[in-house]
Amino acid sequence: MKFGGTSVGDGVRMRHVAELAKEYRDRGNEIVLVTSALGGITDALLKNACEASETGKTSSVNEFIADLKEKHHKAAREAINSTEILENVNAEIDLRIEELEKALIGICYLGELTMRSVDYISSYGERLAAPILCGSLQSLGVSSRSFTGGEAGIVTTDEYGNAKPLDVTYSLVKERLEPLLNECIPVVCGFIAENEAGIITTLGRGGSDFTASIIGAALKANEIWLWKEVDGIMTTDPAIVPEARPIPVISYIEAMELSYFGAKVLHPRAIEPAIRHRIPVRVKNTFHPELAGTLVVKDEKKSRDIVKAVTVIKKVALINISGAGMVGTIGVAARVFTTLANAGVNIVMISQGSSEANISIVVDEAHLDKAVKAIKAEFKNGIIREVTQDRNIAVVAVVGAGMANTPGVAGRVFGALGSAQVNVIMISQGSSQHNISFAVSEETAKKAVEVLHREFGLEHQK
Ligand code: ASP
Ligand code: MG
Repeated sequence: MKFGGTSVGDGVRMRHVAELAKEYRDRGNEIVLVTSALGGITDALLKNACEASETGKTSSVNEFIADLKEKHHKAAREAINSTEILENVNAEIDLRIEELEKALIGICYLGELTMRSVDYISSYGERLAAPILCGSLQSLGVSSRSFTGGEAGIVTTDEYGNAKPLDVTYSLVKERLEPLLNECIPVVCGFIAENEAGIITTLGRGGSDFTASIIGAALKANEIWLWKEVDGIMTTDPAIVPEARPIPVISYIEAMELSYFGAKVLHPRAIEPAIRHRIPVRVKNTFHPELAGTLVVKDEKKSRDIVKAVTVIKKVALINISGAGMVGTIGVAARVFTTLANAGVNIVMISQGSSEANISIVVDEAHLDKAVKAIKAEFKNGIIREVTQDRNIAVVAVVGAGMANTPGVAGRVFGALGSAQVNVIMISQGSSQHNISFAVSEETAKKAVEVLHREFGLEHQK
């Protein structure tokens, strides 16, 4: 079971987590807990480390440290109702915070921040949270031990900030955690690990899901539970369509299509170990543990739901590249994409019609200016006649594995949009047929989502 930042946002929440874990254990389950940092702490650590390297102000470090200490002591007080355990946990917090302070002061003096230091500093969020959660369990009479990612056996590459587990991880985690399962609940720091030299690495932002998935796979768990602040993976964004419902069962493939497209419930990289070892992943709401949540499995048995969800991505922009010179000219697309990659532009969606006279690309809005500039510079003379841009768009995607080989889905999608007077600007469907994406003007995006949610009856999910 992994609990995210909001689920362990403060001491009261942590206690709730400990109680939930105890309850499931009392019902006869063996559990490993993976914890995130307290909500907002990872961001604060990163911000402070940057400031320390830029300004060199040790006074701001001292202030930050005092605040951090206060927050974690308060959380510990709220989560643990045994004086003895509380004292031990506080002593551990103080020790860790002291190390952190030294590192931050060091960064002030050095005036530089390497990727390795960033990982070291940001690891403290989880390293401060785990002892509190562990203490909270102990104070409920459940025996528990806390582990850093490295201690639990997660060994990674040296790619600081985005490290990947090495194969040995799976046997190490099994060796270290499995024997403990019948006697205690191990609490493992999410997000952080170690390289082969024992230096702290991190698995990327939001990496606690990844940790849970690695551990679940290593232990061949029955299920990996990701506790979040939503009722599950939703049919669409409830902020747009209040009738949005949690999806009871979804396949890994569908879940990945969703996460690629803005509804960031699960990161594909994070569930990859679960997929490889075929461990079902369940998304549950910490605030409503009685709800079943969403179960993510290998193959959804053929269901009547052709479409599972409708997602929308905002803050994107469209670039259209056109010119008669492009027709039949080999290598234009290669140049466009290489140019964009070199300029650090993330591409969200692509479309080229068979006339080959234009290529449309959707990029993150923040990347638009550099993207257009780079393309214009690359094609100064020739082939491309015109590069236009449009910031006023949103991308809507209809997702569902049942769409593959089902004729008429696209017809229903675009028919419904047409009846609602929503103009479609650009379309893309990969040949996996699991996702139809299209761009519409920003003003019509809400309507597009509402209309499609209704067209496919998603409000009736049970
Ligand atoms: N604390 C880390 C982050 O905020 C990892 C996580 O919460 O999953 O990115
Ligand atoms: Mg977080």
